Amino acid sequence: MPKKVEMEKIVSLCQRRGFIFPSSEIYGGLSSCWDYGPLGVELKQNIKQAWWRAVVQQRDDMVGLDTSILMHPQTWVASGHLEGFSDPLVECKSCHLRWRSDDLEGNNCPSCGGELTEPRLFNLMFKTSMGPIEEEASVVYLRPETAQGMFVNFQNVLNTTRKKLPFGIAQIGKAFRNEITTGNFIFRSREFEQMEIEFFVKPGSDQEWFNYWLEERLNWYLKLGIDRQNLRLRPHRQEELAHYARECSDIDYLFPMGWAELEGIANRGDFDLAQHARYSGKSLNYLDEETKEHIIPYIIEPSAGVDRSVLAFLCDAYAEEADKNETRVLLHLHPTLAPIKVAVLPLSRRENLVAAAKKIYADLRQQWLVSYDDAQSIGRRYRRQDEIGTPLCVTVDFQSLEDEQVTIRDRDSMNQIRVPISELKNTLQAKLSGEPFDTQPLWTTG
Ligand code: ATP
Repeated sequence: MPKKVEMEKIVSLCQRRGFIFPSSEIYGGLSSCWDYGPLGVELKQNIKQAWWRAVVQQRDDMVGLDTSILMHPQTWVASGHLEGFSDPLVECKSCHLRWRSDDLEGNNCPSCGGELTEPRLFNLMFKTSMGPIEEEASVVYLRPETAQGMFVNFQNVLNTTRKKLPFGIAQIGKAFRNEITTGNFIFRSREFEQMEIEFFVKPGSDQEWFNYWLEERLNWYLKLGIDRQNLRLRPHRQEELAHYARECSDIDYLFPMGWAELEGIANRGDFDLAQHARYSGKSLNYLDEETKEHIIPYIIEPSAGVDRSVLAFLCDAYAEEADKNETRVLLHLHPTLAPIKVAVLPLSRRENLVAAAKKIYADLRQQWLVSYDDAQSIGRRYRRQDEIGTPLCVTVDFQSLEDEQVTIRDRDSMNQIRVPISELKNTLQAKLSGEPFDTQPLWTTG
């Protein structure tokens, strides 16, 4: 059976421990906007870094970009967003709440049961104006996806990198959508981050590359620890496909509210490059050196949400275990994603112990994000680290002062091993890279 955790538990842990707060909370919050706290920012950063390493730095057929959020308004005419990027919306005639009509089950307002208006199309792009005087300024939009920045730079990338098909461009960045129905914590917000790939291929090889990216992206989540049972592929039905898509499949995750899209993978054909060539008047062709023909590449687009990934990794990692008379709450986060890799804990606040522990702490911080905690009992401190997903704790005790050894405690198994301080870094590295944890001492105390 796939595992589901209640959303309230995740929200509460996130607020309690500083992963995620409501935006501008002291003013009562701003609907569907969220702030990442000290631990959340690390987790999010680690997810983005893992993605960037896997799809850009470890491949020779990909390059990265970081394009601006504000783009020439024609971009959105060419992309179809100005005309088509809208949801059908109905309004309740009594309480004036607005709903997406395609989300509704009955014909009445889900909140008060009131009568609803006819559906009206509502554009999801945020508008702003550029220039010093508002009336004269031109209207620009906050991008609703990062993809367009990569399409319009296709020629720049070709000219400067001399990449040959097939190759891809990747980008991580903010996107904004004036969503009608928000909620489910960070699952659907109005300001969010995307990790998108535009992979350019020869027409005819698109099906093969579509299948390749589907598998590649699914494996990325699995390698970082998501349970296979909580992931599924959901191919879009023909009538569901966006206007540009030849084929599309979602990677769905079993979120607390049910199965929902984590990432979408689409075969966009030549729609985007052809549209931008038409509207800009610039050639966005590719010269196929084998056939000497100018072609418009097809695009395979794996588009993932950073915030939805954060939520999926948190939900998947969350566990409660019975431990003596208490419940142990822990995040089984993959070490690559865990915000803090190691915690250094002196057994007491005695001066000589603190000095030894601080020395170790300073040394380990050169390599990892490490925390130091000397407040309350050692048991309590282990629990605090479990709850934020810290994979390893290093305990410095009185014996350490004599034998120059410390204890490493594993989050998941709670097993402990004792190692010489001189071997501490190597051992931590090995354990963080996945070496199994057993209770066999690696070194005899002699
Ligand atoms: P949905 O059907 O859930 O509205 P979508 O199909 O409109 O999503 P895409 O346009 O395919 O989403 O965007 C790619 C990815 O960006 C999504 O898979 C999701 O992870 C993320 N995303 C899209 N909209 C939001 C949002 N409002 N809040 C958070 N993440 C989002």
